[in-house]
Amino acid sequence: MAVKVLIVEDEESLAIMLQYNLEARGYEVEVAERGDEAEEMIAENRPDIIILDWMLPGVSGIELCRRLRAGRKTRLIPVIMLTAKGEEADKVRGLSTGADDYIVKPFSLPEFMARLKAVLRRIAPERISDVLEIGDVRLDRETRLVKRGGREIRLGPTEYRLLEFLMERPGRVLSREQLLDGVWGRENYIDERTVDVHIGRLRKAMVHGKEKQLIRTVRGAGYAMGKK
Ligand code: CA
Repeated sequence: MAVKVLIVEDEESLAIMLQYNLEARGYEVEVAERGDEAEEMIAENRPDIIILDWMLPGVSGIELCRRLRAGRKTRLIPVIMLTAKGEEADKVRGLSTGADDYIVKPFSLPEFMARLKAVLRRIAPERISDVLEIGDVRLDRETRLVKRGGREIRLGPTEYRLLEFLMERPGRVLSREQLLDGVWGRENYIDERTVDVHIGRLRKAMVHGKEKQLIRTVRGAGYAMGKK
């Protein structure tokens, strides 16, 4: 599952450069030019991480960061602030409003990627690693190969995405709605029972003989995989 990045930057050339390079590395990218526009986009489609320019038309980056941290649904989204040289003195203020990191402009692409990965690694390590492992199940994102105890498991594309989505969030109980949004995409109007059908197929494919069932049904809540 691609990591969703929202870039909030009114400097068009910089936004385009970041978008291009992130998309080339498999990230899913959206760009907002204004702070208020970004707020709407975040409410509609929650990003995994936000790259937030300090100086923005509409709502400023610092104000937006403060609002995100105050919001129940947005307070945990990692934020990297971009500041221009000279605004550096403000970085302390930026971090105190809850940004996870800041980068001073101008910066190089390798520097940017390193900082982005460092924040993701700290906050959501499962989202960027090439190999996901839970118990004896191993999913390799590069080769799209799934193995259990060394045995290869063949999955259809939907079951693969479902498994990846669950393994990226070990121990978390995911509702049918969250699974629909994450695996099928929110534009698709699919019945929630479809999730049960595909979970059923996935379970069947993953269990051989006396092997333990790794996907738990949490009554009235949804499904989870991995540590409780
Ligand atoms: Ca700016």
